[in-house]
Amino acid sequence: MSRASVAVPRRSGALRPPTLQTLPVAVTANVAKVRGRTRSTIMAVVKADGYGHGAVTVARAAVAAGAGWLGTTSVAEASALRGAGLTVPILTWLHPGGVDAETAAAARVDVAVGSVDELGALLAQAAPMLRIHLHVDTGMSRGGCPRAQWDELIGLARRGQQARRVRVVGMMGHLPLADRADPAANASAVADMRAAQQAARLAGLGSPLAHLAATSGTLTDPATHFGMVRVGAGLVGIDPSETVELHGASRLTAPIVHTAAVEAGTAVGYGGTYVTDRATHLSVLPLGYADGIPRERLPQAGVEILGRRFPVAGRVSMDQIVIDTGALSFPVGTSATVFGPDGGATPTVQEWARWAGTIPHTIVTGIGPRVKRSIA
Ligand SMILES: *Cc1c(COP(=O)(O)O)cnc(C)c1O
Repeated sequence: MSRASVAVPRRSGALRPPTLQTLPVAVTANVAKVRGRTRSTIMAVVKADGYGHGAVTVARAAVAAGAGWLGTTSVAEASALRGAGLTVPILTWLHPGGVDAETAAAARVDVAVGSVDELGALLAQAAPMLRIHLHVDTGMSRGGCPRAQWDELIGLARRGQQARRVRVVGMMGHLPLADRADPAANASAVADMRAAQQAARLAGLGSPLAHLAATSGTLTDPATHFGMVRVGAGLVGIDPSETVELHGASRLTAPIVHTAAVEAGTAVGYGGTYVTDRATHLSVLPLGYADGIPRERLPQAGVEILGRRFPVAGRVSMDQIVIDTGALSFPVGTSATVFGPDGGATPTVQEWARWAGTIPHTIVTGIGPRVKRSIA
């Protein structure tokens, strides 16, 4: 048999790869919704690569829409934003590798300090003057200075400020219960924040910019707003309090890479957990749990193909999922939408979270590095 007689379908070069598309217009609209709920300064929190949407992309859109500050967890993330030309103040608060005061100062990044030891270590570094925010524990017990040590922290900060080693520009707390959308649940944290402000004032630190609320507090409880609110999830369309309709800011698509017509009684995937109950068509998408598709999920999990929703059939593999398209057979290369803001048959991130028994944040931050990124 000659090679030329074998018809090899040409396809791989023509397929559009799995893509996570970020929609900056949604970020713009979400900042406008937040602005409708508060007069305080808005900090756009873009940690974890902008909740998986691209930190620089989300930051640019948020700042253009009126956010006055940016927030990250590390100096490295903040430096990347500076490198992209963002000039608004940036606060970083977790410091996974400790704070390099020199780098922070060079990038003009504010640093939150959550303990006496942390501040002591900063002051011990020979570095230019740093702008700091005192991070006080307002009920999270997760970072933040415990109340019993506030006076010590504030005293050390004042001495550092007198020695021109630091400037205390902010005071930060965090709300553990704001997702309940019940102001009563936030009351003790609000009282703690006021007490911390008062302690700073009495110690001669003046009135640093106070900030306590994240997305849910911002959307549901004005008493938590203080001088600034820190909004992350809300930028990308997630309201953890589930009280406000925001705009989904990403769309995950993948091409069909393989199809098959199968008989009733066909087992699909590892373990044969899904058995077709009729003759049907199967389509394979090149996305699996390594790409962020949750392996644990309810049977109704599905994707959109040409305006209709079809279920995921059988187990999610590392690199692929199978879709049961029933009577319909789609050509290889047809695009499927795993999630997006489009409505209709297209699943939302919130639906995927429900199917997987998790929160939307883990869906959007979990999309793996093999998925191509694009900006709409
Ligand atoms: C992540 C984070 C935020 C933003 O929270 P969202 O609910 O995503 O708006 C605010 N503050 C701190 C300290 C955070 O870690």
